[in-house]
Amino acid sequence: MSTISKFNEEEKGKLLEDLTWNVKQIQDDLLKEILTLNAETEYIQNFLHGSSAKELFKKNLPIVAYEDVKPYIDRVVNGEPSNIISAVPITNFFLSSGTSGGANKMIPSNNKFLEGYAFIIDLLEHVISKHVKGVEKGKGMLFFLTYLESKSPCGLPIAAGTSWYLKSDYFKNRPSNWYYSYTSPDEVMLGSNTKQNLYCHLLCGLVQRDEVVRIGSTFASGLVRAIKVLEDSWKELCLNIRSGHLSEWITDSGCRNSMSMVLGGQPRPELSDKIEKICSQKSWKGIVTKLWPQIKYIEAIVTGSMAKYVPTLKHYCNDLPLVSTIYASSETIFGLNIDPLCKPEDISYTLMPNLSYFEFIPMEGDSGDVLDLADVKIGCSYQLLVTNLWGLYRMRIGDVVQVTGFHNKAPQFRFVRRENVVLGIETDQTNEEDLFKAVNRANLVLDSSDLRLVDFTSYADISTSPGHYVIYLEVQDKNEDVKGLVLREKIFLECCLAMEDSLDDEYKYGRCHGSIGPLEIRVVTDGTFDALMELSTSKAQYKTPTCITSEKALQVLETNVVARFFNAQ
Ligand code: AMP
Repeated sequence: MSTISKFNEEEKGKLLEDLTWNVKQIQDDLLKEILTLNAETEYIQNFLHGSSAKELFKKNLPIVAYEDVKPYIDRVVNGEPSNIISAVPITNFFLSSGTSGGANKMIPSNNKFLEGYAFIIDLLEHVISKHVKGVEKGKGMLFFLTYLESKSPCGLPIAAGTSWYLKSDYFKNRPSNWYYSYTSPDEVMLGSNTKQNLYCHLLCGLVQRDEVVRIGSTFASGLVRAIKVLEDSWKELCLNIRSGHLSEWITDSGCRNSMSMVLGGQPRPELSDKIEKICSQKSWKGIVTKLWPQIKYIEAIVTGSMAKYVPTLKHYCNDLPLVSTIYASSETIFGLNIDPLCKPEDISYTLMPNLSYFEFIPMEGDSGDVLDLADVKIGCSYQLLVTNLWGLYRMRIGDVVQVTGFHNKAPQFRFVRRENVVLGIETDQTNEEDLFKAVNRANLVLDSSDLRLVDFTSYADISTSPGHYVIYLEVQDKNEDVKGLVLREKIFLECCLAMEDSLDDEYKYGRCHGSIGPLEIRVVTDGTFDALMELSTSKAQYKTPTCITSEKALQVLETNVVARFFNAQ
């Protein structure tokens, strides 16, 4: 993997062709490089005893989940030398949104990851400029945000992958082409107060509204959230534009200093009038195209758990293309969408063979074979395994992907689902086990109050902004009928708190930063869960779904809700 930031478009195009024609060779060479480089690490030595042969790797190296290698990773976290797992020193850890025992996974990393990230962004620039005409002449309003990092016991930084990239030299010294030209100064992206940063991002984008050709965020949830801030703050934003001065409540010094350059103390009454007129319209349908008339497309990941935001984005953005950019994780970058203007339901990602060594466990069929990237079959679904250059070997990512086609010899994948995730609003991923734990905590509260939990299910409600978890509970009272329950507010509020307290760090982080709203309990009347079962076609094997996805089932629940509780703090 080499930096391609200095390549011209033709060279980038040729590279993309080379990579996608020579998948097998590139993957085999990369595996060889990884095994040779790491032959002396404790982990690889245990299984390969100095060999770097692919056959032995396939035979001896176990397929692992995070929990299996956690003891090795924890040793590095706690200060032992990183050559336990990686020959190239580990310099930082990523906090993955996946959890292990309720805590976020700590994924080891180093500059090799950032090299891959920078590489894929450079390739994306090429792909988008090839498909979207006129983007080179404008700027992007990208709601990039960084979050505070912490330190491992041995002093290595722990951060989210996207934050780490934005704070790195790769971003600081980024190429000067259109794709890296933003309406917001870097200080606004790097500030530590999300609310202030989002406000400033919007102000920058509004002041430069005629130059904005694309709007985006890494994930669709971030963009929806930014639009909500716009809905709440447009009057104040207009006042700032009118006067040329930033609101006093923006206290972050980086934001204040850089915004004074953007605003320049210059009053802009006409611009403020125009924006006010657009925003005071009753319907906000298509607001994005009205406020930013030169916009060509929207850029945000809209697949997987983000697909639920597509209708909201379509409402605000009319028929603008939604470009879902890359497929990545804390473990590695997988690939990019080389057909950026396709419909959201057709989005696939082409895996880049130079980024990590990828393997695939078939989801169906009797073959237990683990396949290489070059050998996957169209239409088949697989679990994805990663072996990277910085200490992970045959690691299950927890994603299921399906082959939809090929570009040259490179397979393209539709993201099918994350295994075992039932609820998610933003990057939080609450699995069945976590949800059961949370409901058990609520059950203890109910139990101590003479109430019995009959059944429960859940739903990620994104009709509110921010979205929030809804837990439907059917509860019996030993002494009263269901109407009595409505009065027991204190108990149900306690249940809400107990559940939120039990959920993982990523959830709490979202709550703390306002990207996830308070968990809500909706109590349903006696017999509602029986009515839910009646909808099922296989009653003999019926199990209450842990999470509701069908509209019909949701209707049954909603018509039977007798009380709602949530903690407003
Ligand atoms: P994290 O390690 O917290 O960055 O989370 C990585 C996970 O986010 C991946 O394994 C996927 O489950 C999900 N993800 C990342 N990119 C995409 C994408 N383009 N489409 C769908 N899911 C994605």
